Amino acid sequence: MTRTQHIRARIVWPVDQPPVDDGALVVADGTIREVGRVRAVASPAGAERVDLGDAILLPGLVNAHCHLDYTHMAGQIAPTSAFTDWIKCITALKGSWPAAAFRDSWLAGAAMSVRRGATTVADIEAVPELLPDVWRETPLRVISFLEMTGVKSRRNPGAILGESLAKADALPTGRCGVGLSPHAPYSTVPELLRLSAEAARARGWRLATHVAESAEEYEMFMEARGTMYDWLARNERDMADCGGVSPVQHLAQHGVLGPNFLAVHANVLQPGDAELLAGSGSAVVHCPRSHAYFGHRPFARLGLERAGVNVCLGTDSLTTVLKRHEQVLDLFCEMREFMASSPGVAPAAVVGLATVNGARALGLDGRAGTLAVGAWADAIAVPFAGAITETADAVVHHAGDVAASMIGGEWALAPASGRIPA
Ligand SMILES: [Zn+2]
Repeated sequence: MTRTQHIRARIVWPVDQPPVDDGALVVADGTIREVGRVRAVASPAGAERVDLGDAILLPGLVNAHCHLDYTHMAGQIAPTSAFTDWIKCITALKGSWPAAAFRDSWLAGAAMSVRRGATTVADIEAVPELLPDVWRETPLRVISFLEMTGVKSRRNPGAILGESLAKADALPTGRCGVGLSPHAPYSTVPELLRLSAEAARARGWRLATHVAESAEEYEMFMEARGTMYDWLARNERDMADCGGVSPVQHLAQHGVLGPNFLAVHANVLQPGDAELLAGSGSAVVHCPRSHAYFGHRPFARLGLERAGVNVCLGTDSLTTVLKRHEQVLDLFCEMREFMASSPGVAPAAVVGLATVNGARALGLDGRAGTLAVGAWADAIAVPFAGAITETADAVVHHAGDVAASMIGGEWALAPASGRIPA
């Protein structure tokens, strides 16, 4: 028998529509069947009734960039002035971890993400051997981007990609899915970028790459010199692709940009890069607390938005959260950091970055990031007893765990009270 639930909250906010006072959702078979004023939403016979009381019910948050498996590395790498030094630190730290440590760390990150309101996470998988076991142990929707690097191994790019594809093609389909992530322009060679982009496009997968993250990466590609250039040249990377191109142009030249592409960070842009991203339909994932940790130049939000780029939010990993910030994977914290660094953006637009825009970047528009008929029943509740005009402000200022979380019509975090039998 179909399980039907009628869920009421004092405010229901689909985010892409105005908040509804005294609202309700009807959920069946994991999707939303009705949404609106409680008086206007019919409660089907036999429906399980849940009253969340003084709460805002909104779409589950979409974390468009994360590294769940680094969760237990929180606070272990102090900020360094050189990005290249940070890369060396995390590479050494990863090398010291046994496989079981990555698994525990991944699962801890997933559990934390649920408590903090995420229902969809785009995760970079440095240890793909964890899949699909870890998928089964979380209620989250995870899009696992298999990470590939191709400098140190000196292996053939086709072989590197082939190994990832063999792994990805063998994974079950369902609530979780896969994508590809050639790590960054500096840690790959053009052939790996090109082949990965072709494979992702052919399979209908998303592609995500860290790009233009640091001034050192920008200098490497534009000027063919600098700290990162020297370090990689010493490590026998073929540097023939450097000089005269921005990192974004480099990706464009090798066929990476496109409507299935997530440009992670895009911090250091040259004139024309925003238009290149926009014209290709690529999305940009901004990670506000990671940005603050590295002390990058201000994020080019206005230029990207004016060009028409879909900008969304990610947490990145807990290795890049300053000690003064709470060490949690939490998009509410990212929204507040974004507000602090981009004053003047309306709170409703900021919540849009973490819901609607993230879903669009992942090709999930209409299914995630909104509360609409036909969308997945992925919703979270935050306590709130104030005026409806304060809804968006209350959401961005929500601190701590959410009051409830539903993913695909099942409670990932059940409301503490309010369940009323039919
Ligand atoms: Zn990252």
